[in-house]
Amino acid sequence: MKRRVAVIGLDGMAWHILDKLFEWNIMPNLKNITRKSLKGVLPSTIPPESGPAWTSIATGVNPGKHGIFGFTKPTEDYSGTHIVNSQDVKYLRVHEMVAVQNLKSVCVNQLLTYPIKRIHGAYVITDWLSPEIKYSPEIAQYAKNYQGPTLGKASPLLEKNWDAHYTEVSSRVDTVNALLEKTDWNLFWVVYSEPDHLFHRYYDSVMRKDRRLMRIFAKIDETFKIVSNTADLIIVISDHGFRKFSYGVYVNTYLEKLGLVNSMRHQAMKTIVCHRQVDKPKIQFRIPESLYRYLSRLPSSIELIMLRVYKHLLKANIRAQLTNHIDPKFSKAFAHGFGIYVKEKELIDHVVMYLKKAPFIGGAWKKEELYTGKQLKAMPDIVVIPNYEKGFAFRSDIIAPKTTVRRDFSNHHPNGIVILYSEDVKPSWVKGISVYDITPTILNFLGLNIPGDTDGKVIDLKNAK
Ligand SMILES: [Zn+2]
Repeated sequence: MKRRVAVIGLDGMAWHILDKLFEWNIMPNLKNITRKSLKGVLPSTIPPESGPAWTSIATGVNPGKHGIFGFTKPTEDYSGTHIVNSQDVKYLRVHEMVAVQNLKSVCVNQLLTYPIKRIHGAYVITDWLSPEIKYSPEIAQYAKNYQGPTLGKASPLLEKNWDAHYTEVSSRVDTVNALLEKTDWNLFWVVYSEPDHLFHRYYDSVMRKDRRLMRIFAKIDETFKIVSNTADLIIVISDHGFRKFSYGVYVNTYLEKLGLVNSMRHQAMKTIVCHRQVDKPKIQFRIPESLYRYLSRLPSSIELIMLRVYKHLLKANIRAQLTNHIDPKFSKAFAHGFGIYVKEKELIDHVVMYLKKAPFIGGAWKKEELYTGKQLKAMPDIVVIPNYEKGFAFRSDIIAPKTTVRRDFSNHHPNGIVILYSEDVKPSWVKGISVYDITPTILNFLGLNIPGDTDGKVIDLKNAK
């Protein structure tokens, strides 16, 4: 009988949040597994974003080999962006590696699985970045009830329709549980996106133990009960952590001050937020240029109040547009997410130097300093992260009136979690586990071949320190 590995992803989970859920006894089954496990802080990829992080975890290689840096990427002529999908992932993922070596895998809600690549033995339900949920016909009997938010269908969470949201989450958890119990697999891989989606919008409510959110975590916890009886190795993992920050950073505003970015009033370089059906206001109202200039000179607290008054005067569902966007055609360099695209390559060193000088920047690297591999060409010229430790996080790609604003908001933090349980492990805290180690560890446990160019190592489950 072949051994079985189950990977349960909790997108965005951090130890300080999970410890609260344990303290409140919201996730008793996971708490029970964790007590017996090897566990540690899992540093995310640079950048700590779901696309590159989950893809690195699932391939065992860096973005320079698998090709994923973010959810959207600029087109080659920089005229716009496109949403990445499974065809942009240039490396086999572990659920596929297992199947091509003649074992069976089930993979649910792993990012960038749409359109499904048909591989015998790999059964997939696509992720929330899909235009619609698709699944392998072999698991239709279970997957047909799975309801996801997708790019084409907004989550009821956005309208605070808690009951509808709970019904959707339940359909996902129940599907996962049925697949775990009733199908034949050697690797079971599921990512629950709910923690990330809840922390982005309702972080404070989670930390206040809001009952409507607690029941979501309690529902997800049902999976941990079933997995305890069905897997020989259980890996619970997050792609990055989460935290409250005190300052928002607009990198393009900084680049504009350096004379690198040109602005315009409409957004060509759309991000995933523009593509998702989030709570779009019915009317976009553009603030007059003169008022925009005036507001931008005020302290941000006053600016916020002024903006609220202005919105109130204009009534209800109007989004006052206080910002400019980058003009990719006439900019020498611009930021899109954590990447900076530099059109005049001789400026790269100069831009890195200016970024490193800024107190709100935590690090800036030329792409070849971080990544290696054939997909290096698909990476932005420079990778930049905010100064997390000083309370800064990125806000968006807009050119805001000021480079940094005082705001309390929750966002990704590099410190994720990893929990490993098998009969062999001695419960302890371990250091030094990398996102790249998960795939080689799974393959080794199943007695399968590990790709020669992996960036990870097999975690020693018996003697880990
Ligand atoms: Zn994530």
